[in-house]
Amino acid sequence: MSRFFDFVKALFTPGSKPQSPVIATSRIIILYAVIGIVWLYMSDRILLWMTDNLVSIVHMQVAKAFAYVIVTAFMFYLIVYHQIKLLFESIDSIHAVNTILDQKNADLQQMERHLYHLAYHSRETNLPNKLWFENTINELIQQRTSDQKLAIVILDIDHFNDINEMKGHIVGDTLLHLIGEMFDKKVQEPHVAAHLGADEFGLAFFQSGGHDAMMHVIHEVFDTLKHDYTIDDDTFEITFSAGIACHPGHGDTFLTLYRNAHSAMTTAKAKGKNQIIIFDEKSLLSRTEATNLTNQLRKAIKHSDLMLHYQPIINLKSGHMQFVEALIRWTHPDRGNIPPLDFIPLAEKTGLIKDMDYWVFNAAFKQYHRWHEQGMKKMRISINVSARTLVHPDFIPDLFKLMTKEQVQAKDFIIEITESIAIHDMKNCINVLKKLKKKGFLIALDDFGTGYSSLNYFRTLPIDQIKIDRSFINKVVDVEEDRNILEFIVLLAHRLKIEVVAEGVEDIKQDGIIRQYGVDFAQGYFYGRPVPASEIANQ
Ligand code: C2E
Ligand code: CA
Ligand code: CA
Repeated sequence: MSRFFDFVKALFTPGSKPQSPVIATSRIIILYAVIGIVWLYMSDRILLWMTDNLVSIVHMQVAKAFAYVIVTAFMFYLIVYHQIKLLFESIDSIHAVNTILDQKNADLQQMERHLYHLAYHSRETNLPNKLWFENTINELIQQRTSDQKLAIVILDIDHFNDINEMKGHIVGDTLLHLIGEMFDKKVQEPHVAAHLGADEFGLAFFQSGGHDAMMHVIHEVFDTLKHDYTIDDDTFEITFSAGIACHPGHGDTFLTLYRNAHSAMTTAKAKGKNQIIIFDEKSLLSRTEATNLTNQLRKAIKHSDLMLHYQPIINLKSGHMQFVEALIRWTHPDRGNIPPLDFIPLAEKTGLIKDMDYWVFNAAFKQYHRWHEQGMKKMRISINVSARTLVHPDFIPDLFKLMTKEQVQAKDFIIEITESIAIHDMKNCINVLKKLKKKGFLIALDDFGTGYSSLNYFRTLPIDQIKIDRSFINKVVDVEEDRNILEFIVLLAHRLKIEVVAEGVEDIKQDGIIRQYGVDFAQGYFYGRPVPASEIANQ
C-alpha cells in the first residue's frame, strides 16, 4: 500500500525527476487524459453556448475533432521528440565514455609496458638489467637438460673510472650507451647480454656440447666486444676484464654463479686487465685478503717499508750500463717478498698507486744524489709510471714541485709508460707527455709487443724509446717471421729517431739476434738482475 502512495506522490511532485520509466510514462498519459477530458468537456460547453443550430454543431464537432487530433499530435511530437533526443544523447555519451575507457585502457597498457621496461632495463644502455639477468639465469638453470651447459660471464670495462674522472660523466654515460649498443648487436640468441650497473656487464651462454665448444663461443664474443669508440674528438679503445662461472660446476643459483664469475673477473683485473679468466676456487684472492693487503700496502707506503731495486740497461754498442730501471719491491712482514704484479693492480684499483708512484719518484731522486756523490755521474734512472698517476691532473705540478725540492734535473730520468695509457686517453696522454718532454725527461713506451701494439704510436706519441716486451724477444730466436717484424720495428724507430730497448734478454742467442738487428739497448737477466742500489754501485 505504502508503495502505491509513494508512486502517486512521485507522480504528482512537480519538477521532480522521474525515478522510473513507469512514473515517466504515467505522467505523460495522465497529462494526455486530463487535457483530453478538459477539452471534451469545455469544448462541448462552449459549442452549445455559441449556437443551437444542429448542422453547425455537427460541422463544428468535426472541426473540433480535427483540432484535437492536430493539437495532441503536436503535443505527442514534442514529448516523443524530447524523449528520443534524450535517448540519442545517452547513446552518444555512452559512445564517448566507451572511447575514453578504450583510451584509458591503452594508456594503462602502455604504462604497464613502460614500468616493465623500467623495472627490467638499464637506463644508461637500454639493455636488460641485473634483475632481469637474475630471473633469466634462474629460469635457464631450471630449463637446462643434462647435455646443455650454461656459463655466465661478468665483464668490467678496463680504465672506465679514469675516463669518467678525466672526461666527465657525460662522456662516460655516452660511452656506456655505445658499448650497450655493441653488446646488443654482438650477442645473439640463445645467448643474452645485460647491463648489471656502473661499468659492469653480464653475458649468459647456453649451449649443448662440451667445455671447449663453450669456451670457443665465449672467446669469440669477448674478442668482438673490444672496440674503438669515438666521442667528439676522443677515441677510446675499450677492453674488458672478465670472469666466467659455469653451471653446474661453479654454482647452482644465480647468486653463487654471479659471485664466482665476479671473483674471477677481479682476478683478471689484478692480473693486468684485458683478459678473461675462468673461476677457480684455489687461485682466487678472497675479498678479506685483498682488503688486508691493501691496508698493509698503504702502511708500507706511509712508513717507507718499500724498496727500489735497480736493473741495468746496457748500451749494446759500447757495452756500458747506460741506465738503470727502478723496480719496486715489497717485503711483507708475514708473506715475504710480494711480486709487483701481485700488488700493483690492487694499488691501481684502490687508487693507492698515485702515492706509490710518488714514493718511487722520491726514492729514485734521493738515490740519484747518492750515486752522484759516489762518482757515478752518468747514471740515469728509468721510472715506471702507472696510467692512473700519469693522467691525474695533479701529477705534473706535484712532480715538478718534488723535483725542485730534491734538486734533480729531468734530463737524468726516463719516464716509462705502457701502451694502455696511450690507448684509453690519447689526447690527454699526449698533452702530459709533451709537458714532461719540455721539462727535459726522456719518454719510453714500455711493454711494446703486448696488447694493442700499434706502430701508429710511433708517430702520435712524443716518445724517445720503445721497450720491446720480453714475450716478443722470447720468440725471436725460433720464429723467422718475428725476426722480420723486429727488423722492421728497429728500422722504423730509427727513422723516427726513436731508440730501441730489448727487454728480458736471458741468453747469448737472444743477445746475438738483437745485436744483429740493430737494437740499441738491452735489459735482462743475461746482463744483470734487478738488485739493491748498493750492488749497482759495485758493477
Ligand atoms: P716492467 O716495467 O716490464 O719491468 C720489467 C720486469 O721484467 C721486471 O719485473 C723485471 O724484474 C723483469 N725482468 C727483467 N729482466 C728479465 C729477464 O731476463 N727475464 C725475466 N723473466 N724477467 C725479467 P718486476 O720487477 O717483477 O716488475 C713487474 C712489473 O711491475 C714491471 O714490468 C712494471 O710494469 C711494474 N712495476 C715494477 N716496479 C714499478 C714501479 O716502481 N712503479 C710502477 N708503476 N710499476 C712498477
Ligand atoms: Ca718498465
Ligand atoms: Ca716492460
